[in-house]
Amino acid sequence: MTDTRHTKLLIIGSGPAGYTAAVYGSRAMLEPLLIQGIQPGGQLTITTEVENWPGEVEIQGPDLMIKMEAHARAVGTEIIADHINALDLSKRPFTASADSGTTYTCDALILATGAQARWLGLPSEEKFKGFGVSACATCDGFFYRGQEVVVVGGGNTAVEEALFLTNFASKVTLIHRRDSLRSEKILQDRLFKNPKVEILWNHAIEEVVGGDNPRGVEGVRARHVETGQITEVPCKGFFVAIGHAPASELVKDVLETHMGGYVVTKPDSTETSIPGVFAAGDLTDHKYRQAVTSAGMGCMAALEAERWLAEQEQG
Ligand SMILES: Cc1cc2nc3c(=O)[nH]c(=O)nc-3n(C[C@H](O)[C@H](O)[C@H](O)COP(=O)(O)OP(=O)(O)OC[C@H]3O[C@@H](n4cnc5c(N)ncnc54)[C@H](O)[C@@H]3O)c2cc1C
Repeated sequence: MTDTRHTKLLIIGSGPAGYTAAVYGSRAMLEPLLIQGIQPGGQLTITTEVENWPGEVEIQGPDLMIKMEAHARAVGTEIIADHINALDLSKRPFTASADSGTTYTCDALILATGAQARWLGLPSEEKFKGFGVSACATCDGFFYRGQEVVVVGGGNTAVEEALFLTNFASKVTLIHRRDSLRSEKILQDRLFKNPKVEILWNHAIEEVVGGDNPRGVEGVRARHVETGQITEVPCKGFFVAIGHAPASELVKDVLETHMGGYVVTKPDSTETSIPGVFAAGDLTDHKYRQAVTSAGMGCMAALEAERWLAEQEQG
């Protein structure tokens, strides 16, 4: 059965950006609807300890997101378990079609659909995610003080992550399947000069190895891409740095995007190329990709949506 619901403010996404926008939008009496998507709570629900959310010395990612959801509900946000499969931003009110069959229309829209880290796709990588396998050195580097870590990748992200990890780890091995890096030369110079860094060229990761009791990484097995020879590299942390994919399929060819699909916002703002459509969080951010920066952008988006709606009402 199809059903249409109208709201002043529609928020798509239930990560830190979406829930923060919901808190601000609700407290501005905009009575927002928030659509959770297929990953209620967003990326932090697939991690364990979070130690950089202000006010919580340590909290499990899923627990933090349950708290954010409860906060958004407590101030009056209606939270809906649904997934948007198409958007029409060509006219106002904007229209969002959902898998449930419901069509949501709205005067202003906040997109907070986030991003997904790219993974290698190995079963052993999946097994140790959150138990030594990470896609975020800024988030998890601190856990590997004085220990050996491995980074896989060959672009700017991999080199930046490897350099960042030298602040904590006793040794950082960068494994890349080619014989040269794609990253900027200045970063490469810094990497090559760092005594803590070793590079294993022309190798692809075969398997992450580790124990079950307690669950944790003990090393990786890497295969030489030409000879097939296997090298085992011991490590406690394995960082996958092969890129991120912003969840911008809904607005591909509609909103301006850059850097492989990140939605472009105006400087110091969450305004997109369509008035009334705001974007916040990892969907727009190829640089910081943190919960707290996403939440900050969610706040900005709600405040900007509120002002924009008020301007429309005043004519
Ligand atoms: C393993 C891991 C560990 C991390 N650890 C930390 C950490 O310790 N500290 C830190 O600050 N950051 C950490 N991060 C990064 C942090 O999770 C992200 O920066 C943050 O979650 C981004 O928030 P967001 O709101 O932009 O989007 P996301 O958290 O990516 O959420 C996106 C939301 O959009 C929804 N959505 C997507 N498409 C649709 C659609 N079509 N319809 C409806 N809904 C949709 C999804 O269901 C999801 O709810 C980690 C990330 C990962 C992957």
